Amino acid sequence: MTLFLLVLCFIACIGLGAWLTYYFFKHSGVSSSWQDALDWTASLFRRKYPVELYVWKITNDEHVCEDCLDRASWEPMDIADWMKEGLPGTPEAELECGEKCRCKLVLYNPRPAHHRDHSS
Ligand SMILES: [Zn+2]
Repeated sequence: MTLFLLVLCFIACIGLGAWLTYYFFKHSGVSSSWQDALDWTASLFRRKYPVELYVWKITNDEHVCEDCLDRASWEPMDIADWMKEGLPGTPEAELECGEKCRCKLVLYNPRPAHHRDHSS
C-alpha cells in the first residue's frame, strides 16, 4: 500500500513537472509549441557552445574507394552526425575499404587560412 502511494506520488510529481515546463514555455512569449521551445533551447545552447563541424578527408596518395570519395564531398557535419553515418575505418560506416580506410575526419574551418598581411 505504501509502495503504491509512493509510485502514485512519483508519477504525479513527474506530471506536474512536465506540465509546469510546458506552461513556462507556452507563456514565456518565446515560443508557442514544444518544437519551437526545443529549437529555441538548442539555439541558445549552440550559441554558447558552437558545435564544431568536421569534414571527411581522404588521403590522396592511397587508392580511395568510392564510398570515401562520396563522403569527401559531403557537407560538414558535427561529430554526432558523423557517428551516425559511421566514422572512418569503422564497420558502422560500411565502406568499401573497410578497416583499411586511411581517411580522417578533420575540423572544418569555414574561413580559409589568411595569408599574412605585410602592409602593417
Ligand atoms: Zn577510406
